[in-house]
Amino acid sequence: MDSSEKQYELINRLKSLGISHNVLEAMNKINRHDFVLPEDKDKAYYDTALSIGCGQTISAPHMVAIMCDLLELKEGDKVLEIGTGSGYNAAVISELVGYHGHVYTIERIKALMHFAKSNLDKANYSNITLLHKDGSCGEPAYAPYDKICVTSAAPKIPEIILGQLSNNGILVIPVGNNTQHLFVVKKDDKGKIFKERKESVLFVPLIGKYGFEDFNQKN
Ligand code: SAM
Repeated sequence: MDSSEKQYELINRLKSLGISHNVLEAMNKINRHDFVLPEDKDKAYYDTALSIGCGQTISAPHMVAIMCDLLELKEGDKVLEIGTGSGYNAAVISELVGYHGHVYTIERIKALMHFAKSNLDKANYSNITLLHKDGSCGEPAYAPYDKICVTSAAPKIPEIILGQLSNNGILVIPVGNNTQHLFVVKKDDKGKIFKERKESVLFVPLIGKYGFEDFNQKN
């Protein structure tokens, strides 16, 4: 099977899970094999997380799709992603927000930010800005954001990140230590906050000032 046939099978699998048409269309435009390590190219279209080095992973395609659906992404949205990893999720968001939207994506591990940059450069995305810093503090410079997507698990929802979400905005974030759940946090037009707990998930930890402690201290 070549990569386009594998991609076709993956998209059909995601369709059977009830993922929306616009998210499927965005994912279909992106070669996941451009975002994995050379030794994993043959596994790029499996619906699983894969190692990208530095103890981190590219999330499973169904998880990327579910988070994008929960974010209700639309043309023109300004989005903050915390946890760039391979850059794949940023690419999917970029397709969904289009030319008039923008994705600011933060990665704390420099080597991964370079990995993501070289992956994203293959497709020439003009609406993605990569930032190397502690994303547990968000990024006040471009706030407020229409949508915020956190791709690593926080001990609790950081207030500082919530403060950078615009009214009518949506934040999707995995929360928890041993047991994690996905949370969807919405602000209404007056800034009132509504939190909803969704399915249990398994993410690498958000490390930083408002995340978990870094026990390795390598970065
Ligand atoms: N979205 C990624 C993709 O499409 O490949 C997958 C992200 S991976 C599951 C989580 C990422 O969050 C890792 O690359 C990790 O280094 C990063 N991370 C953890 N804590 C962070 C922090 N405080 N700021 C920025 N990135 C962080």
